[in-house]
Amino acid sequence: MFCSIVAGRVPAEVVRAWDDVIAIVPLDPVTPGHVLVIPHTHVADIGEDPVVSARTMACAAELAGELEAANVITSKGSIATQTVFHLHVHVVPRREADALPLPWTPRQEAKERCAA
Ligand SMILES: [Zn+2]
Repeated sequence: MFCSIVAGRVPAEVVRAWDDVIAIVPLDPVTPGHVLVIPHTHVADIGEDPVVSARTMACAAELAGELEAANVITSKGSIATQTVFHLHVHVVPRREADALPLPWTPRQEAKERCAA
C-alpha cells in the first residue's frame, strides 16, 4: 500500500515531502497531528536497510523537532505489532492528559499483572 501511495497511485494526505521520503496522515490518527513517515524505497521494516531507515528517521526527527512533545515509533515484525510491511515511522504529537496509552508502558503492564 505505501509503495502505491509513494508512487501517487493511491491518494493520501501528504503533509511533507522530501526527495526520498514522504509524511502522510494515517487513515486512523491516534492524536491530532499524527503522521506516518515513509521512504520511497520499499524496505519491509527498520531492520532491512540501515541507510534507508536512518534517512527516514531523520525526516521523522525533523517533524518531531517542531513539536513540544511526541512519540516517535516504528515496529519490526508482527510480534511487535507491525501490520504494514513497508517501513513507516509514526510521529505522534502528545499533549498533557491526552490519555493515549502505549503498549509497552510499565504502568499498563503492571495493571495487567494485577488483574491476573
Ligand atoms: Zn512498499
